[in-house]
Amino acid sequence: MHSIPACPVCGSENTYPDGSMFICPDCAHEWNPSEPEATDGDERVVKDSNGNVLADGDCVTLIKDLKLKGSSTVLKVGSKSKPIRLVDGDHEIDCKIDNTSIMLKACFVKKV
Ligand SMILES: [Zn+2]
Repeated sequence: MHSIPACPVCGSENTYPDGSMFICPDCAHEWNPSEPEATDGDERVVKDSNGNVLADGDCVTLIKDLKLKGSSTVLKVGSKSKPIRLVDGDHEIDCKIDNTSIMLKACFVKKV
């Protein structure tokens, strides 16, 4: 272990160790790195901020305002997406909100 891993939930790199646990200050996720994550196989589980499993075709709402990178557009908390598509990467959700295509992190949404 050469460095502290990024948060498996939100991808934040502000994580820090606490005893045998790692803690993410951005989403308050705590995890034990000696417990292997179940990442084998094709089945990728993406969970929303409430821990509900998300699937292609689900609709989600934002739980916080999100500023779009490279623009002054802000997507407001409570904005509802079109049906989502789950993708690889640290932004797991590909969807449209207010006719804007956007990649979202699952920890910033909840399933409708
Ligand atoms: Zn996090």
